[in-house]
Amino acid sequence: MALSGLDIFKLLPKTNCGDCGVPTCMAFAMKLAQKKAELSECPHASEEAKATLGAASEPPIRLVKIGKDHPLEVGSETVMFRHEKTFFHQTGIAIQLRTSEGESRLEQKIREIEEYKVERVGEQLEPDLFLITHDSPENDIFLKTIELVIENSTKGIILDCAEFETLKTGASLLKDSYAAVLLKKTVTDEWIELAKNYNCSLILTSESYEDLATQVEKTKQAGVQNILLNITSKNTGLQIQQNTILRRSALKKAFKPFGYPLFNQINTESEFDMFATAAALLCKYESIVALHEYNRALLYALLTLRQNIYTDPQKPIQVDPKVYPIGEPTPESPVFVTTNFSLTYFIVSGEIENSGISAHLVVCDTEGQSVLTAWAAGKFVGETIAKFIKTINLEQQVTTRKIIIPGFVSQISGDLEESLPGWEVIVGSQEASDIPSLVKSLSLT
Ligand code: SF4
Repeated sequence: MALSGLDIFKLLPKTNCGDCGVPTCMAFAMKLAQKKAELSECPHASEEAKATLGAASEPPIRLVKIGKDHPLEVGSETVMFRHEKTFFHQTGIAIQLRTSEGESRLEQKIREIEEYKVERVGEQLEPDLFLITHDSPENDIFLKTIELVIENSTKGIILDCAEFETLKTGASLLKDSYAAVLLKKTVTDEWIELAKNYNCSLILTSESYEDLATQVEKTKQAGVQNILLNITSKNTGLQIQQNTILRRSALKKAFKPFGYPLFNQINTESEFDMFATAAALLCKYESIVALHEYNRALLYALLTLRQNIYTDPQKPIQVDPKVYPIGEPTPESPVFVTTNFSLTYFIVSGEIENSGISAHLVVCDTEGQSVLTAWAAGKFVGETIAKFIKTINLEQQVTTRKIIIPGFVSQISGDLEESLPGWEVIVGSQEASDIPSLVKSLSLT
């Protein structure tokens, strides 16, 4: 039975030390009761509290890991909506390899997928897993495909093979690599035994909630805890509805059989529909989506969406505040200034590069806020920029005394000139895309 905030409070130290990030033990107890915090955030919790609160303080959705050297972690979510706190573990993207594709095509595909890495706002984006589906009459090719992935990649593997003995041999090649096994029929004792012997997760599949819950109970009681839920449906709308019911049951009703990450294999005919469906499911609670085709352009769109959804809304992505050289600047090169919101930094630095000049880009600490937000919050004003420039000793590094500020904050130019005696403040363009024309109009070199 779920414990109330008062029950939990009685077990806490009641010192109100604030080390958990909230001012009082009572406030922390309320957060724990609402599953918005974990007991481990209180460093002073007694052993008795840990034992008593045990299951009550467990995350309502289990964390499951797939892969060894480059593992994907999914689950451990605590909220329905990102703005309530954050989503912790981004949706894993698996690319399907079908054994009927043939060895040489599979090898080429594995290498291409392994090499696919794109950088966006300072983060590396890439697919996470391979789903190996055995659909060839030859059993050897299934094992060969597993070996090819092991040789060429560090990504985790999901095995999908209806033939038990072949699957067992395949799983033995991945012992202790935290592979997952996709079951498309009702789970049986022999599959559970296989998962235990080779340390695999089990992806349980069903069309109905009741059957899925029964399979989960059976698997758990037999000793396999790493489970994913694959509830299948006829269309994307229904899939979203079912995913929502599963997530809500786990978080709001504390229904333990549904407290596991969700998996979905997308089987639409058209590639475009496949990515559109993956995008919808990525937003609505899918922990892993498996794609049957590999398309670099559409994959990039999906990875970008994922990065946006899984960025912590309370912690904007930011770069280190410092002076960044763009190109090969000399002491006479121009100085630009902006904020340390990652997106702003990457757009501004890219446009300075596009303008063909070298420059010094001063990135001020605005706690990851963009230019106008930081200005409105008083974090990107003349006084703070001048203070930062002095802290980093910019005046000793450059001989130029001209500094270009973003056009949107032209109003700070007077203050900045007052705070930085000897400097001329130039109001730059409002949009970063106009930096190349600004550079031309100012004849900067
Ligand atoms: S860290 Fe523990 S003892 Fe301190 S206020 Fe939070 S709950 Fe209370």
